[in-house]
Amino acid sequence: MNILILGSGGREHTFAWKIAQSPKCSKLFVAPGNAGTSQIATNLTIGVNDFEAIAAASVQYKIDMIIVGPEEPLVRGVVDYFKQNDALKHIKIVGPDASGARLEGSKDFSKAFMQKYHIPAGASQTFQKSNFQEGLAYLEKQSLPIVLKADGLAAGKGVIIAESYEDAKQAFHEMVEESKFGEASTKVLIEQYLSGIELSVFVLTDGKNYKILPEAKDYKRIGVGDKGLNTGGMGAVSPVPFADADFIAKVEEKIVKPTLNGLINEGIHYVGFIFVGLMNVDGEPYVIEYNARMGDPETEVVFPRIKNDLVELMDATAGGTLDTIELEVADNYAITTVSVAEGYPEDYRKGDVMEIPSALEDTVVFHAGTKFNTENQVVTNGGRVITCTGLGKTLEEARLKSQEMASLIAFEGKYFRNDIGKDLLAFVK
Ligand code: AMP
Repeated sequence: MNILILGSGGREHTFAWKIAQSPKCSKLFVAPGNAGTSQIATNLTIGVNDFEAIAAASVQYKIDMIIVGPEEPLVRGVVDYFKQNDALKHIKIVGPDASGARLEGSKDFSKAFMQKYHIPAGASQTFQKSNFQEGLAYLEKQSLPIVLKADGLAAGKGVIIAESYEDAKQAFHEMVEESKFGEASTKVLIEQYLSGIELSVFVLTDGKNYKILPEAKDYKRIGVGDKGLNTGGMGAVSPVPFADADFIAKVEEKIVKPTLNGLINEGIHYVGFIFVGLMNVDGEPYVIEYNARMGDPETEVVFPRIKNDLVELMDATAGGTLDTIELEVADNYAITTVSVAEGYPEDYRKGDVMEIPSALEDTVVFHAGTKFNTENQVVTNGGRVITCTGLGKTLEEARLKSQEMASLIAFEGKYFRNDIGKDLLAFVK
């Protein structure tokens, strides 16, 4: 098969790395990709939302299958675009159409969906300009802290957790009345705060069958000890020691099955990944959010643990035959540590020359924000620059490998957290 991956981060490098190992892949393309993907695939300088250019490239390179990495093209309807075009509809695509991607694209939709199908989640109501005053009154009746969520896509920034009524009202005002997140905050959810430990469970579905992939925990804050500003993710761990078989069974019964049945009931033919962000509240799973794609950096710890041929797995997903596949997961730990550019997640440095030594044994290095400059050197090209996954029989082994590899990579202003996975050591039995 000729395969095209859309995206340019660590997630897409991981997909490419795994697909490049498959004898079933003839030619591999990544659009737009990064310096890492260019070493194992052909990068195409096409943006993920440029559907016409993606279509033209798909015809030119005789693409058989497309795997969509990020959410934006999904929410904007890249799958619908292909399915509605006679010259393109034979191409298999892993990713939901726009109706399915609403699970991520509209928090109002996904919350109503959870309520309708009795999927455990924090209580919530949605407000907008027309009922702003009602929203304020509702807000005053909630206990603190209060969670405010922009309905639409806001590049991971649309959630505010207010510790006081004053802050909550201020944030609510800015979101609804001053369009703080643009169109995304036309509607705002006021949601119950859930107290517990977060983790993510990933479901792969072909529209009727499903596989639950290894779970993961990510680390969102910039600082050690989970302090400071929110980021796209500074590291991840899989498996999650407190998510034992009982807990995952609860997730499957109370969340995964009702979600998939709900989608079928709504007439949504969902093909692709569902990333279920969960809060473990005293051993009970609650949904915080759905995403219509894999997570980044979670992919970098989930996929190295999957033993299956990824082309077979993706082909079965797009082709509706996931029931013929037995998912095989390695009995090991994976931890990834993301190195970021100085200043990230605010304004950050770019264009610094990087030194990337060969990966140590039991490590894999995935590029995120990197590119080749005109002198053929790899340079930084994003906030999250590169991530090092360590594998080991134990959490601690994987952690040390990941840290060791991260410390060997050099570029001006490099920063990484040295505590990814440390908090989970206490849960290891
Ligand atoms: P989201 O963009 O929905 O993933 O939310 C971003 C982060 O906000 C999550 O990863 C959680 O840490 C936090 N969060 C979202 N919803 C809640 C909630 N209902 N209770 C507690 N924390 C939440």
